[in-house]
Amino acid sequence: MLKVVKFGGSSMADATQFAKVKEIVCSDDARRVVVVSAAGKRNKTDHKITDLLYLCHAHLKYGVACDSVFQIISDRYTGIRDELGLSTDIEGKLRALREKMEKGITQDELVSRGEYFAALLMADYLGYDFLDAELWLKFRFDGQIDQEASYEALRRAAEGRRVVIPGFYGSMPDGGIRVLTRGGSDITGALAAAALDADVYENWTDVSGILMADPRIVEDPQPIERITYNELRELSYIGAQVLHEGTIFPVREKNIPLNIRNTNDPQHPGTLIMEEFDDSADSEHRFITGIAGRKDFTIVTVHKTGLSSAVGALRQILDVFEKHQISVEYVPSGIDCVSLVVASDKVAPCLYSILGELQKDFKPDTIKVNDNIAIVAAVGRKMAYRLGSSGKIFAALGENGVNIRMISQGPDELNIIVGVDNKDFAHAIRVLYNSFVR
Ligand code: ASP
Repeated sequence: MLKVVKFGGSSMADATQFAKVKEIVCSDDARRVVVVSAAGKRNKTDHKITDLLYLCHAHLKYGVACDSVFQIISDRYTGIRDELGLSTDIEGKLRALREKMEKGITQDELVSRGEYFAALLMADYLGYDFLDAELWLKFRFDGQIDQEASYEALRRAAEGRRVVIPGFYGSMPDGGIRVLTRGGSDITGALAAAALDADVYENWTDVSGILMADPRIVEDPQPIERITYNELRELSYIGAQVLHEGTIFPVREKNIPLNIRNTNDPQHPGTLIMEEFDDSADSEHRFITGIAGRKDFTIVTVHKTGLSSAVGALRQILDVFEKHQISVEYVPSGIDCVSLVVASDKVAPCLYSILGELQKDFKPDTIKVNDNIAIVAAVGRKMAYRLGSSGKIFAALGENGVNIRMISQGPDELNIIVGVDNKDFAHAIRVLYNSFVR
């Protein structure tokens, strides 16, 4: 049994958090591969080390002294070391880094040091080997990850060892350091889990899993216990902020379960993400897995008598949007009309050109534009075989005074999407949550 475990910035923020990580890792012998982020915020007003490193680089770029910022970074890591009674030679490495900064250092290399120092300390603290990500996570010259070469290199390097790996970066073919996009340690962990055919990829953070709704809208939402990769994709696409986008692919490809856990509440099972679940024995009444949404969409509705039976009509309309590089999110339709739902900020600069071209090429009876529309999606794999799911959703919204402007249900019956006025956005989400979850 092998568990690849990744700890995010808040789990690495100070000595107290390090101690929780150690407790978690040591409580399960299968947790032999540990991936870490740079130290994150200790409280709301604190700074992430990665942000400070970007700040240092900006100073260097404009020839402004960055000693005070660098000192904060040094103090954080030496502080953790001293509090934990470790002997890692952080000062020597910081001095070498400072010298390199004077001579010239790339932004990627400088910001990667947040993870580097965090991993050195954690390896020392756990008594694990430090395994530098630059030795195995390989980028190609085009900036894409060379998955095969990386997997092969990690398999060889980690064989039979207990290791701590810094997240967020790897190396280019010329040996230079390259970082992933922000939050990329999630991806490092997923790649490590896939490379080593782990039994599970545990992603430890500061919440007990993915929440059923945005906590800024719903008070104290419950975490999702089990969610499929497809449901997660739906929820993230429509607005739920969960994991880094690139995290899912490597583990899904290998069918490795992903478990999101809370370092501050290690007994909580968190959220388990898998390809599918056997829900047959599930007597639970709830048919919604999660609720998410986004504001500011525009609906362009084109009316033309006989539209449904006119061959190629839809393509003609879509062509106009494509020409302007506008992606159409949903296409609800009737017999004589079709609506195109698009993001308002994307369509705004070319809306009048699009309307003009539709008028000219398609000669519709009318075209109507509604903006300030929000999209709210109820996502749930169980909706497919629960009779009346959509009826219940529409009834709840109607009874609570939410005017539904658009309805769309994906053909896979994984979600029910409604368009409401922007002003009703938060209310609609609360109504759905209170009606079907609470
Ligand atoms: N430390 C990096 C960031 O703040 C990467 C990560 O934490 O995943 O974006």
